Amino acid sequence: MSLKEWLLMQTRGGVHAPHCKHTAECETIVMPPPERVIIAMSQHIGAPCTPTVKVGDTVLVGQVVGDSDKPVSAPIHSGVSGKVTAISELLLPDGKKTDAVVIESDGEQRIHQSVKPPVVESYDDFIKAVRQSGLVGLGGAGFPTHIKLQPKDLDKVDTIIINAAECEPYITSDYRECMEYPQDIISGALTVMEYLNADRVIIAVERNKPAAITELSKIAAEVTRPGHEVFVKSLPARYPQGAEKVLIKTCTGRIVPKGKLPADVGCIVMNVNSIAFLARYLKTGMPLVDKRLTVDGSAISHPKNVRAVIGTPIRDVIEFSGGTKNKIRKLLMGGPMMGIALMDDGLPVLKQNNAIIAMTEDDVTINEPSACIRCGRCVKACPMNLAPPTIEAAYMTDDTGLQEKLGVTTCMECGCCSYVCPASRRIVQTMRLSKQAVSKSKSKS
Ligand code: SF4
Ligand code: SF4
Repeated sequence: MSLKEWLLMQTRGGVHAPHCKHTAECETIVMPPPERVIIAMSQHIGAPCTPTVKVGDTVLVGQVVGDSDKPVSAPIHSGVSGKVTAISELLLPDGKKTDAVVIESDGEQRIHQSVKPPVVESYDDFIKAVRQSGLVGLGGAGFPTHIKLQPKDLDKVDTIIINAAECEPYITSDYRECMEYPQDIISGALTVMEYLNADRVIIAVERNKPAAITELSKIAAEVTRPGHEVFVKSLPARYPQGAEKVLIKTCTGRIVPKGKLPADVGCIVMNVNSIAFLARYLKTGMPLVDKRLTVDGSAISHPKNVRAVIGTPIRDVIEFSGGTKNKIRKLLMGGPMMGIALMDDGLPVLKQNNAIIAMTEDDVTINEPSACIRCGRCVKACPMNLAPPTIEAAYMTDDTGLQEKLGVTTCMECGCCSYVCPASRRIVQTMRLSKQAVSKSKSKS
């Protein structure tokens, strides 16, 4: 690699957060279906689904229970067989309300007749199958995959990046996929490369996961060929290495301009769990009905990786994993950097949920924020090259034009700025509010 290429692939900002990957060697344990599932009708970016079943209906595993005719959405399926007992309103962790289909399980796990391998002979068939599978970005983003795989200019896409960086502390769900299903990852990657007519697949793994790198490299070497390369790229272990734009820069040296998408620079990025799921769906026809979750944190007795049916109440997953050893002070859906704090452990597992982290008082002692001392650490840590104190000042004066000019809409809420701030300022929260203010003022104009 030339010095110029090397320089291009260097990314700015980020932090060295403690990895805390306690569950890396914990093989996934399958949780039996719970007595009751609460299936949220909004588990993706885009239009929420409308229930396609009603109270009293009998449903089977793999049956569609929610769908939408809006372009950006994905169907939702049941992971249990049983009876629909309620269609109720659910308050999601992000504060939005949605419908939820509540199903009492009969424990029989009878499979719906629609569950059979899809017939895929063309790109259009492939996209239809991806939609039918209910797949959304399983790394946490929740963007419907069939939309991602239909970029405006398909001919421009030459690179598929499989995101196995998993830079968030604690979470080992992607790592377990690499160790338990490496063949599915490669099989899914080859399928996507074929239907998108791309030239190469880069499987991106942080170098603190050497076993995954070895395992995947071995299989990749067996399938790679000129013009259809498949290889593993080992990345620096630095948060947020797995953020889409950061990953594209590190893997290819390409920069996604503000307001543009990865496909505009020839890349499609897919989470490693998403790609392996897709391979299995094409073989079996079983849609997305369950999810691997890392259950960890100082309040958890026995940290584990658990495969649970989507819609299982989080308290049931914690109970199954061995319960708590200390009082939970903070419960997170996702990791400590980008996860969302939950007010209620009765909330159900969602498609894009990859971890449940339960922390005790000791781990969440929060200092009161003090005045900014202009140290510049947040600026240095920001992978998007933003200046949070300047944006905050523009936010305080309601100058949405200036906030936008300062690039707040590119903030990916990674939390690096808050992590390094010696004054404990709530920078991410301010960035979120600023982004909302900009979007509100744009929708008015
Ligand atoms: S949260 Fe936003 S402002 Fe803070 S470091 Fe991440 S991208 Fe930059
Ligand atoms: S890190 Fe905190 S104290 Fe330092 S400049 Fe940023 S906001 Fe101010």
